[in-house]
Amino acid sequence: MAKKQFKSESKRLLDLMINSIYTHKEIFLREIISNASDAIDKLCFLSLTDDKVGMSREDFKITIKADKDSRTLVIEDNGIGMDRDDLENNLGTIASSGSYKFRQQLEEKDKENVDIIGQFGVGFYSAFMVADDITVLTKKYGGDTAYRWQSSGADGYTIKEVEKDNVGTQVILHIKEDAEGENYSEFLDQYRIQGLIKKYSDYVHYPIIMDMETQKQKEGTEEKPEYETVVETKTLNSMTPIWQKNKKEVTEEEYNTFYREKFFDFEPPLCTIPTSVEGVVTYKALLFIPSKIPYDFYTKDYKKGLKLYSSGVLIMDNCEEILPEHFRFVKGIVDSQDFSLNISREVLQHDRQLKTIAKTLEKKIKNELSSIMKKEREKYEEFFKQFGRQIKYGIVSEYGTHKELLQDLLLFYSSTEKKLVSLQEYVDRMKEEQKYIYFATGESIATIDNLPQAELLQSKGYEILYCTEDVDEFTIQGLGMYDNKSFRSVTNDDLGIEEDEKSEENNEDNSQVLTFVKDALGDKVNEVIASKKLVSHPVCLTAKGGISFEMEKYFAQVQPGSGMKAQRCLELNLNHDAVKALAENIGKDDEKAKLYSELLYDQALLIAGLPLEDPSAYADLVCNLMK
Ligand code: ADP
Repeated sequence: MAKKQFKSESKRLLDLMINSIYTHKEIFLREIISNASDAIDKLCFLSLTDDKVGMSREDFKITIKADKDSRTLVIEDNGIGMDRDDLENNLGTIASSGSYKFRQQLEEKDKENVDIIGQFGVGFYSAFMVADDITVLTKKYGGDTAYRWQSSGADGYTIKEVEKDNVGTQVILHIKEDAEGENYSEFLDQYRIQGLIKKYSDYVHYPIIMDMETQKQKEGTEEKPEYETVVETKTLNSMTPIWQKNKKEVTEEEYNTFYREKFFDFEPPLCTIPTSVEGVVTYKALLFIPSKIPYDFYTKDYKKGLKLYSSGVLIMDNCEEILPEHFRFVKGIVDSQDFSLNISREVLQHDRQLKTIAKTLEKKIKNELSSIMKKEREKYEEFFKQFGRQIKYGIVSEYGTHKELLQDLLLFYSSTEKKLVSLQEYVDRMKEEQKYIYFATGESIATIDNLPQAELLQSKGYEILYCTEDVDEFTIQGLGMYDNKSFRSVTNDDLGIEEDEKSEENNEDNSQVLTFVKDALGDKVNEVIASKKLVSHPVCLTAKGGISFEMEKYFAQVQPGSGMKAQRCLELNLNHDAVKALAENIGKDDEKAKLYSELLYDQALLIAGLPLEDPSAYADLVCNLMK
């Protein structure tokens, strides 16, 4: 029979497995058992709603047989099984979630770094680390034909029809011969297998059984003990899912391993949230916040949601409705005996119990985050770096419905503290006479640090929150107020500060300068005023009305031609030598004064990060003045 070739993408992973020098080869058993358990999940779920399956929960099991003579290790399940297409698609190619992700990560990371193998599910192929031949006998539920898939590695695989009575799958591994420094025979040892199952697969919720040989004293040999070998069928796992266990009984390492395997992550989670609720609705949940943002988080490929279980049986792999959008980064499972087994997406939308659970989980996540913020600040900042943007989106979305819930999870960089601060911390520090919460927008901390508009506030020692992400300003608009204090942009012409008498004077004395500059610039600006906020800089632009410069820039990117423009107000520092030089030329050399006006306006544009209307004209202007 002609051998079929593995799909090329699978081949690399396969090669890696066959030639693996990885020391934790033992994880192959976890992978094969996990596949068996998933296959049983599928049939078990069917059996709940379809009498034709003719099986009940207690009938499902995974059986292990090890035979040292033939060097075979057999893992058998009575799950859903596979037909020819499934075999082609699932074992001939890496289409499956775990392996696919693994390959992607492999490509991103050090290509030959096999150390990452053990860190999470790499699936079926990992068996080639210990086996030189793999045979899969399988019959799918509902099908008539059984199949035999066989492969001894890189040269491909064969599939043929065979006889098999019962539905399910048998994976037969021919364990490699021992080699120098490599002991493969250990995987045929019953105690080693027992240990591995305890270590990796204890929570699998179907019995994993194996016939084990033990020495027993023969009856009637009390005087002169004689022993015989007896075979006992033992269940090797405790079958309690990790989320059903009391959190005190579970180590952090166990939670981390569970998370990495179940949710295909290299990194341990940032935090684990085990929850147990008894009351109107009774459920257990085990939630995780990843430590790194998934690479596809902001794409449509990313699926938010939690896994739903009903008394240990998986009923939905990804229930979106149970997680609010703003916490879509949370992973985990919820298990409730109250979930109906034949739950469908349509039913879910109106399911009252589900809504109640969703509400309490939302609160739980929020409280957990608040507590990390309080007690483990560095860790929280790490979280915020990864997912802060999502929290901000949460505030802006749905007309601000969630702002009360989310506002205390925000962090902004502070001008005075030189680090990230929360709104509460800002308000607690506000000066007695301070009316507003000040914020400034810009591309980076350095740009904002040098904003002329912020000078006065800075010189008076007021704290300013820095908005460096495009969503920041929308977030602040969405919040409107915090703790009864309004937000105010440093570019706003009214900063709520007692005016300097000096600038009042200047205002009156110099109206001639202001009018001149306005006339010189025409429609380019809406207004020219004497600045109350500039200290050492000669000019700045401020935006009047509802649209800020940051918004103007944002809309120019996402909706070019929308005509969203901020109203430009040019502020002049009448005490600055450059502005004085301009003033002196008025009446004497109006042409020059006009050039100075344009130059100052262009500089104000540059500082505001706005494009110059005519950069080469600006360059000529500067050169002319240098002559
Ligand atoms: P993953 O488990 O991450 O999806 P695997 O490479 O381990 O990747 O398995 C590939 C696919 O093969 C599984 O998703 C499943 O569809 C199928 N499969 C593997 N083992 C079994 C089994 N014992 N019974 C039924 N299907 C199986």
